[in-house]
Amino acid sequence: MRTEQAKTFTAEDFRRHAAVMKPETRMLIDGELLESASGERFESTNPATGKVAATVPAGTIEDVNRAVISARRAFRSGAWSRREPRSRMEVLYRFAKLIEDHALEFSLLDSMDVGKPVTDMLSGDVPAAALTFQYFGETIDKIEGTITSTAADAFHYIVREPLGVVACITPWNYPLLMNAWKVAPALAVGNSVVLKPAELSPLSATLLAQLFIEAGGPEGVFNVVHGTGSTAGKALALHMDVDKISFTGSTDVGKLMMVYAGQSNLKRVTVETGGKSPHIITSSVPDLDVAVDYAISGIYVNKGEVCSAGSRILVDASIEKDFVERFKARVHERVRLGDPLDPKTTMGPQASHCHQQKILDYVRIGVQEGAQVVLGGRMPRGFDEGAYVEPTLLTGVNNRMRIAREEIFGPVGVVIPFSTIDEAVAIANDSTFGLAAGVWTSDLSMAHKMARNIQAGVIWVNCYDHGDMTQPWGGFKQSGTGRDKCLETLLTVSQTKSVWMHLGY
Ligand code: NAD
Repeated sequence: MRTEQAKTFTAEDFRRHAAVMKPETRMLIDGELLESASGERFESTNPATGKVAATVPAGTIEDVNRAVISARRAFRSGAWSRREPRSRMEVLYRFAKLIEDHALEFSLLDSMDVGKPVTDMLSGDVPAAALTFQYFGETIDKIEGTITSTAADAFHYIVREPLGVVACITPWNYPLLMNAWKVAPALAVGNSVVLKPAELSPLSATLLAQLFIEAGGPEGVFNVVHGTGSTAGKALALHMDVDKISFTGSTDVGKLMMVYAGQSNLKRVTVETGGKSPHIITSSVPDLDVAVDYAISGIYVNKGEVCSAGSRILVDASIEKDFVERFKARVHERVRLGDPLDPKTTMGPQASHCHQQKILDYVRIGVQEGAQVVLGGRMPRGFDEGAYVEPTLLTGVNNRMRIAREEIFGPVGVVIPFSTIDEAVAIANDSTFGLAAGVWTSDLSMAHKMARNIQAGVIWVNCYDHGDMTQPWGGFKQSGTGRDKCLETLLTVSQTKSVWMHLGY
């Protein structure tokens, strides 16, 4: 069912559809739906209810091997890798449309897996995933080679070719969308893909790969292996016949990807990893109420489970008190905790009970470090079964505290005061991460200088979290090594070949 229709649903409608859903959880290898070689399955728990939503095959080294063999065979066959560009474009356009046609299923699947509000899925993740395949589809016949200037006895041209087999290893915070960001560019340039979704969010991956085949994609080009990171993910990253790891996840596991590449076949690696992004409100903020609203969505959107969350809120000391009061007053209008299947809900449960406990531990650590909880900080009343955490704000924070340095990945913002712009930039840059930053000022020169001096892959001025497919998405420092979304991504899933023809004969 398409987005427009599903958007008219009530909570009861969503619950009725969710109750009868039977997700296809098997792996998709070489066009076949398969159990794991061991026959074992693991549970995916709905974090809103604490109940098992589905069980999923626990992929083994053998399953990974089968998937890589399938991907390599499909690549060598040329059925996709050498297929006429316009024909590949048409497949990706149909694929994008099929994703839209299955908006309700994708929304319910990701919601059951990780507690995402269905309305976020319908208005955000699903259209964005469809657009990702549309956008990269549009690039296919725009990829051109080059002829270079040479001496008269030579003709030299450079062509761009696919790499071969790309392993896409993805996180759980935007399951469908992260799968799309990794898979779409890889397919666009003609690679075959093995997708290993996060074990917390496996439910929508097989449907995605099935729709590629329904759109006309050849079997074996887009394979899905489920399973844990330590077994299936590791086997894929270490595999001698994988040409590239395209990874999104934590910084620690991102580093492991580089180790695995070095321990195996020097496969290419790009990693998009964590963040602790500064959101800076200067005293020349054009409208403090607007900045407060963006600060609220900057940290609480998607339950705070966002790599680019504006989790360090840097506020000019002269307006800090006013900012905090307005933040607390506005948050209840902007954030509504509840059942993810209720269209009125804007914040669902955290992705798992284990993650909920990690977040609450960080709040305790912050208090031990001397910070004050001025908002939330607990499990909300009346949501005992779910992995909920109240929207939380801590003040009395300095940038040396763990709550200011480590990625909490939940609805926990920390307010850090500053006295000068130089100090704000120094605090912003005093982090191992460098994914994104926000700056609020009506001083044009200050905005440009701060954008120049802050070490982050994305800088938002007088907004937060805006962007589209043309925007390079990736970080400085330990926030990653690649870029998603934009045209530059195509360079990371392809390689150049130089053909030098001697014209002497
Ligand atoms: P994670 O690193 O725990 O897992 C990511 C993926 O790696 C999963 O599929 C997991 O199964 C796999 N994995 C885990 N251990 C592995 C191993 N030893 N070998 C191979 N694969 C392994 O991350 P997560 O908890 O799923 O996701 C949250 C993280 O993702 C956060 O740090 C967040 O900032 C980051 N993230 C970054 C971006 C970005 O664009 N920079 C976007 C979304 C999420």
